[in-house]
Formats: sequence, C-alpha cells, structure tokens
Amino acid sequence: MNKFNKSLLWLRRDLRLYDNAALFHALNESTSVHCTFIFDSNILQALENKKDQRVEFIWESLLQIKKQLNKFDSDLIVKYGDPKEIIPELIKDYECDSLYINKDYEAYARKRDTEIINKLKIECFQYKDQVLFEENEILTQSGTPYSVFTPYKNSHLKKIFFEGINQFDCEALSKNYAKLNPMSMLKLEDIGFKESNLKSLPIPIGEDGGKLLIDDFKKRIHDYGIKRNFPSIKGISYLSVHNRFGTVSIRELAKVALEASSEGASVWLSELIWRDFYFQILFNFPHINEGKAFKLKYNDLKFENNPEYFMAWKEGMTGYPIIDAAMRQLNTTGFMHNRLRMIAASFLVKDLLIDWRWGEAYFAEKLIDFDFSANNGGWQWAASTGCDAQPWFRIFNPTLQSKKFDSEGKFIKKYVPEISTLSASEIHEPWEVKKGALIGRKINLGVDYPMPIVNHSEQRIKALDIYSSKK
Ligand SMILES: Cc1cc2nc3c(=O)[nH]c(=O)nc-3n(C[C@H](O)[C@H](O)[C@H](O)COP(=O)(O)OP(=O)(O)OC[C@H]3O[C@@H](n4cnc5c(N)ncnc54)[C@H](O)[C@@H]3O)c2cc1C
Repeated sequence: MNKFNKSLLWLRRDLRLYDNAALFHALNESTSVHCTFIFDSNILQALENKKDQRVEFIWESLLQIKKQLNKFDSDLIVKYGDPKEIIPELIKDYECDSLYINKDYEAYARKRDTEIINKLKIECFQYKDQVLFEENEILTQSGTPYSVFTPYKNSHLKKIFFEGINQFDCEALSKNYAKLNPMSMLKLEDIGFKESNLKSLPIPIGEDGGKLLIDDFKKRIHDYGIKRNFPSIKGISYLSVHNRFGTVSIRELAKVALEASSEGASVWLSELIWRDFYFQILFNFPHINEGKAFKLKYNDLKFENNPEYFMAWKEGMTGYPIIDAAMRQLNTTGFMHNRLRMIAASFLVKDLLIDWRWGEAYFAEKLIDFDFSANNGGWQWAASTGCDAQPWFRIFNPTLQSKKFDSEGKFIKKYVPEISTLSASEIHEPWEVKKGALIGRKINLGVDYPMPIVNHSEQRIKALDIYSSKK
C-alpha cells in the first residue's frame, strides 16, 4: 500500500525520466504520479530574444518525455503561466495529495518554491538532484562553507568514496504513472517564441541527446586532461546544456568518471566538482545574487566602461582574432569553449577595462548552457573578484593564449574567415604582418578586419592601477 494516492511531480531543470530523485520518490510512494512542466511566464517574458535556443531545447526535451510517458499510457501536462497559480490548480484538478520537486538553488526559484509550498495544504517533498552534494553538506572542519576549491574538492572526493553514488531506478516503478489520455503539446508560438537555429547546431537534444553525448565522451574521457584546453579539438564532453536542463543525471556522470578510473577521468570529475562548488557558493554566499563581488572590497572597482569597446567585444570585432573567434562562436552557436570563456572574460575586464557584470549579463543572454552559479563563478574568477579567483595581477596576454591554445589558428579561421589566408605564425597578431606581405592575399586590415582596438601592454598597466587601488 503506497503512502499517497495521487501525486504531482513538477519537472523544472530535471527534464528526464531516469535517475531522477523526485520522480523516484513520487513513483515509490504514490499509486498514481502526474508529471507536469510549466513554462514559467515570469522567466520567459523577461527574455528579449524570442528565438531562444534554450526555450526550444526545453520544448524539444519535453516532447521526448511526452513520448516516453505515452508508452506507459500516461502523458506530460505542459502549461504556460505563473506556477504560483498553476500548481494549486493542477493539484485541485487532478485531486493530488502530494507534490514532489527537485530543488532549484537559484534565488528566484527558491523564493517561488517556498511561496508555493507554504500555501499548499498537501504534503510537499523537495530533493537534491542537480548536484552531487548540496548546500552545507560539505563544510570545513570548523563548520563553515568552503570558499577555496582544492580543499573543497578533497572533502568532496572523500565523501564520494565514503558514501558512493546512489542512483534512482525510476524505470522499475513505471506502472505508477497516472493513466492519462494523450494531450496536445503547446506550440512554441503559444508561449511567445519562435524556432531558433537550434536544430542546425551539432547539439543532440533531450534525454536521447544526453545519452548519445555520454556514450561518445566515454570513448574520449581518458584524453580529457590533455585535450580539454584546445578549442579546435574535440576534447570536452559538450554536456553543459544537458547538465543545465537535467537531461542527464549528474550522478550518472560522476559514475562514468569513477568507472573510467584514469587521469583524464579524474580531471573531468574535478570539473563536475567545480559545478557543485559554485552551487554551494551561491547557496552559502547569497550576496553574489545581488550583483555584488564575492570579495566585497572589489565591489566598486573603477572600470572605464567604454560602450564602444563593449560593442566591439560583443560583435567579435576587437582586432584580437582569438577573442573575436570566441565571441562569434558564442553569437552563432550559443556555446563557447571553456578556455575561450576564460580568455574572452579576462580580455573584457583587464584589457577593455569593462565591469565584469556587463560581460556576465551578455553571457547570460547568449549561452545555451547559462547557469547563474557557474557563469557568475567564471566571471568573478576572471575578474579576480571571486572566491578562488585568478590573482588580480595575473593578466592573460590574449596573443600568447592564442598561440598556445590555437597554435595553427584552426579555430580562428573557422570563425574569422576574413583573415583565413594568414599563416599559423601570422594569424594571432595580424597587425604585426608587414603591409607588403598582405598583397594578393585578399586581406585589407583595418577595412575587412579591424586593427586592435586597444594595446594590450598599455591596458595591462591601467588594469593593474585599477586593482592596486584596492590592495
Ligand atoms: C566566464 C565563464 C562563464 C561560464 N559560464 C558558464 C555557464 O553559464 N554555464 C556552465 O555550465 N558553465 C559555465 N562556465 C564553465 C565552463 O566553461 C562550461 O561548463 C564548459 O565550457 C562546458 O563545456 P563542456 O560541457 O564540454 O564541459 P566539460 O569540460 O566536459 O566539463 C564537464 C561539465 O562540468 C561542468 N563544468 C566544467 N567546467 C566548469 C566550471 N568552470 N564551472 C562550473 N562547472 C563546470 C559543466 O557542467 C560541464 O558540462 C563558465 C566559465 C567561464 C570562465
């Protein structure tokens, strides 16, 4: 005899029917589980670009869930509106006596969920699902949250080895999905959106797509440590969008890394732990939610904030080929390789002397894998304002980074075709190529492709001045 009769499972950023904590508990404890997803109008109305890859990624992932549920004579109830109104309505309409959700750690979601749960007069259950360890599960010996990664990682690894990774077998309980007649799916237009370029991108979508990427990466995981920094090589997993929307399970990924048991796999596991690290920073240091620097003394650095420089950076027209290639990759695909995120972020802040919050907001608008905690963490790392950040006096030289991580210029040539006739030794700093050497190579520097908008050495000195005033 199950504890509950009819329950409501509300999916949010956990768009899968396998190894899903809340789903497992709902199926295990109730006779009839109704699954729902609500396109939250409060979030969607704030998005200016109505051809948003992320909204379409969610939409396509929901289609896959509907298909899976149809096999169990059930369906996914998809709604659009304010969850504060819709959840109580669904509970009433389907006569549910319990609500199950996986925790979402972002400020808006936490407030929304607390309000909903406080209002409901039924039992509500929340589970940890999107991270391996959450909130204050990992604390220092004196009981405070970690703000430095390496000791956090060591404690995290110890906890993994001590507790193991426990997955949730939802498949075994599939008889407990509510029997529902098939329902039609909202169209993208019904929620105010249009098709984006998502389907033209090499991103496999939904739970099926996540599985494909995991299988593909398993073959490459051992090389991750040596290949992960080179944007023109297929060295990384490309799973971030799936981590963002929960179309893969973080527990499964950790298991993949542990079972692979190689140096490359350990480096990859560390990246998954960075993800957990930034989630616990978000939970334990809520001032970062308010646009504040993690290290408060760096909150009001005197950046120059030149709007023309910002525009050139956004458009990939700074004259620094590696930066421009990175920004054009972001603008056209919604993705940017991690090494390039670090270089492009550092360049905005320490070469163009623009407030890191401007860059953070631009990435938030464009990244398909945008996640507040990782994005804020990455930007504050690059701007040296963050918890375990790049020291303020360490400033990437974009040209040296380019030579090191895209030595043949393959990545640059893909996204900055204007200078594709330059050789590997010329392409990182086209302004150094003698005018005569460009004759007959279809490149008119300053016309087809800009001269550098700033001089790195001069800007570096200015950046050091800005930061040293806060020493
Ligand atoms: C300025 C800046 C902004 C960033 N913004 C985001 C963001 O909005 N969303 C996001 O998911 N990642 C962000 N990152 C982290 C990282 O760049 C991406 O997670 C990574 O590039 C995704 O590629 P992948 O899935 O192939 O990662 P892999 O290298 O295969 O790593 C596996 C997984 O680990 C996680 N991960 C890897 N690196 C990090 C990291 N540094 N911090 C937190 N998690 C990490 C991701 O979930 C990733 O899918 C940012 C980094 C920087 C420097």
